[in-house]
Amino acid sequence: MTKIFSEDALKASPSQIREILKVINQPGIISLAGGLPNPDTFVGKEEIIYSIKQYYNNFWLQYAKTSGVDELKEKIANEWKVNKEEVMIVSGSQQGLYLSSLAFIDKDDKIITEKPTYLAALQAFRTRNPNIIGVDIENDGINIESLEKILENEKIKFIYTIPNFQNPSGITMSLNKRKELIKLAKDYEFLIIEDDPYGKLRYSGEDIPSLKKLDDENNVLYLGTFSKIFAPGTRIGFIIGDSEILKKFEILKQPIDLCTETLGQYLISSHFDKIPKNIDYAKKIYKKKRDLMLDSLDIFMPDGVKWIKPDGGMFLWIKTNVNTDKMFDYAIKNGVAYVPGKTFYPNEDNTNYLRLNFTYPEDDKIEEGIIRLSKTIKEFK
Ligand code: PMP
Repeated sequence: MTKIFSEDALKASPSQIREILKVINQPGIISLAGGLPNPDTFVGKEEIIYSIKQYYNNFWLQYAKTSGVDELKEKIANEWKVNKEEVMIVSGSQQGLYLSSLAFIDKDDKIITEKPTYLAALQAFRTRNPNIIGVDIENDGINIESLEKILENEKIKFIYTIPNFQNPSGITMSLNKRKELIKLAKDYEFLIIEDDPYGKLRYSGEDIPSLKKLDDENNVLYLGTFSKIFAPGTRIGFIIGDSEILKKFEILKQPIDLCTETLGQYLISSHFDKIPKNIDYAKKIYKKKRDLMLDSLDIFMPDGVKWIKPDGGMFLWIKTNVNTDKMFDYAIKNGVAYVPGKTFYPNEDNTNYLRLNFTYPEDDKIEEGIIRLSKTIKEFK
C-alpha cells in the first residue's frame, strides 16, 4: 500500500504536539502541553450564532470569494490603514504559512527561522524541502549579528519571525531590533514573514509597533489571526501584504479550499467592534494565570532551572539541566505533561528546554502542575 504515496507524503512526519495531545488526555494528568486558548475567552458563545442569522440571511451559507468576504476585508483594511487589495482572508494563519511555503520555496532554497520557532511553521515549510537556517534569539529577539553573518554568506528567500511573545520562547523583539531587521531586509533583499497571533495579548510592558507598520518598502508579509482573540474553531486568519503577492496566494489557495469558511468570516465581521472588549477580558484571565505559573515556578523549581517572564502570549519556556525528551514519560507517570523543547528547533538536537502553556489549565491546576513538574525534574536522572 505504501506504493501509493508520493515521496513527499512518505517523508511527512506528524507534529509531535498533536501526538502528545493523544497521550495526555488521560484522567489525572495536568496538561501544560497544548497551546489552546481558554474557552472562557470565546466571544459571546450561543448568541453569536443567533445574531448572524438575522444579519446576513443566507450569505453565510454560501461560497465566498477566495480572497475573503469583502466586508471583513474592509474592516481589517480600515484597522490597518491599507487598501482592501492588501488584505486576504485565509483558513487560519496556518494556511498563510502553508501558502508562503508554496509561493516562495523551491527545493533547497534557503530560508531563515528563529531558533527555536513555531513547530507547525517548520512543518509547513518542510513540505517544500528548503534548506532551513536557524538564527539564535536573545532576550530581546533575533541575534542581529548572527543574522548578518548568515546574510553575508547566503542568499535567502525569507526570514520567518514571531516578534511578539514568541511561540515557544515567550520572547518579544525590541523596537531597535525590529528596525534593524527591516533595514537588513532592504539591504539584502529578502522578505520578512511576520507571524503575530499573540500581539494583542500583552499583560505587561508597552506595545511595540509591528514590523509591518515600521516597514515602508513592502518587504513584510504580516500574518494575523482571530484564533486567540475570538475563537480558534472559526479558522479565520488574515494576511496583510503586497497586492501582487496576495494575487499569487489567491491562485494557490483556490485548489486547496476554494474559499475560507464563510460562516466564520461573517461571525467575526458582525462582532468586529466587540472584539477589543473581549481581548481585555482575555487579558485579565491570562495575566492571572501567567502570574500564578511564574509564582509557582519561583517557589517550587530546583536550582539551575531558568525561565524568562513573557510580557504576553500563552507560553513559558523553561531551561533545565535534563533531557526533556527522555524525561517526558516520567512526567506523565507523575501526572503532568509539557512539550519537549527539541521539537521547536529547525535542525539541531537541543534537548534541555520544555514549553509550558498557562492559558488553558484551570487556575487551581497550575500550581499542582508545577509541583509535579518540579518533582519530576528533581528526581529524573
Ligand atoms: N503561528 C503561531 C506562532 C501559532 O502559535 C499558531 C497557533 N498555535 C499559528 C500560527 C496558527 O494559528 P491559526 O489558528 O490562526 O491557524
